[in-house]
Amino acid sequence: MNGVAESLLNTHQVRKTKIRLEVLDFFLSKNYALSHAEIEEAIDKSYDRVTIYRTLKSFEEQGLIHKVLDDSGTSKYALCASNCMSHKHNDAHVHFNCEACGHTFCLEDIPIPAISLPTNYQLIGYSFLVQGVCKDCKK
Ligand SMILES: [Zn+2]
Ligand SMILES: [Zn+2]
Ligand SMILES: [Zn+2]
Repeated sequence: MNGVAESLLNTHQVRKTKIRLEVLDFFLSKNYALSHAEIEEAIDKSYDRVTIYRTLKSFEEQGLIHKVLDDSGTSKYALCASNCMSHKHNDAHVHFNCEACGHTFCLEDIPIPAISLPTNYQLIGYSFLVQGVCKDCKK
């Protein structure tokens, strides 16, 4: 347990529990998006799927993590930048999927280009995925 996870929970007004600290610590230890299965694998086996699901759901609601869509067909989650708050996300950045390691990274400094939709189409959300080879695999 480190203090970073604890203070993040405080900032986002999420009540501190052991599983929340554990899951958040796992996110903090990785720089790429995590799937439910990866989280389940990494944390204490005494927690069931539903508990993990609820943990992710409350993190998402409180602006701690956001959903990342990649080509794997399963939803992944990544830590938000510090400007996300409860029910107010600010994650309109490009995601990058590496073909070598398979990880998906947030490119927080690369905004999604503006999209203008045809008449009568209503925008609800968008995701922008770029594929390639990440900086660690390119070495
Ligand atoms: Zn966010
Ligand atoms: Zn890679
Ligand atoms: Zn992201």
